[in-house]
Amino acid sequence: TKGTDVPRCVETFDEASFPGYLTRDLKARESFKAPSAVQSQAWPVALSGRDLVAIAETGSGKTLSYVCPVIVHVNAQPVLGKGEGPIALVLAPTRELACQIELEVATFAASSEVKHVCVYGGVPKPPQIRALKTGQSEICVATPGRLIDFLDCGVTNLKRASFVVLDEADRMLDMGFAPQIRRILNKVRPDRQILMFTATWPREVREIARDFLKTDPVEIRSGGAG
Ligand code: ADP
Ligand code: MG
Repeated sequence: TKGTDVPRCVETFDEASFPGYLTRDLKARESFKAPSAVQSQAWPVALSGRDLVAIAETGSGKTLSYVCPVIVHVNAQPVLGKGEGPIALVLAPTRELACQIELEVATFAASSEVKHVCVYGGVPKPPQIRALKTGQSEICVATPGRLIDFLDCGVTNLKRASFVVLDEADRMLDMGFAPQIRRILNKVRPDRQILMFTATWPREVREIARDFLKTDPVEIRSGGAG
């Protein structure tokens, strides 16, 4: 880890101090014995409200590193009013990844009845527009291009967004999404919390971190990645 006053890592699911419904859901997974390295350090950082950069290789359990804190965050916010966009936004590079993330969100959102929506390109817009407009979803998982389309035509908005996750940030930038990511982040209120996950740490990713994260993010590296 790098950064000032980095919160202590947790070694068990109980130590993470999530609400009971989340701890139960985590322990219910047969193959889950303890937090992965990234989770054990990312959870306390995310729950303390700090911005985070996690550089960790594929398969290190990054998805739940943010999904659990996202659910805690959303449940601590006033309920969404009519016409208000999501409270938490997760950006991912591809449709496949966005759908995988939504599946994981769905598993852990069920017990506290948090609603979620997933939007991505390459498919017709109307069903996603309906889902955004009528769903009042607290969590939106999105690919950057399709989300920008919907923001531009007012289908949704980021006025309530206070928690943003960039997953596979390096891949999103490789795919040329930097302008879209910048436009999206510029629409999010300045007091938001941002978590950024990446497998590598090239200049483009460092620039996004420098320009949008708070000045003293916690940096986690796991498994010699990056
Ligand atoms: P990454 O995004 O870092 O590539 P994923 O979040 O996709 O990794 O997780 C990889 C696999 O590890 C998934 O099958 C996930 O269910 C599993 N996993 C996540 N956290 C744990 C854990 N604490 N214990 C055991 N398996 C886990
Ligand atoms: Mg991942």
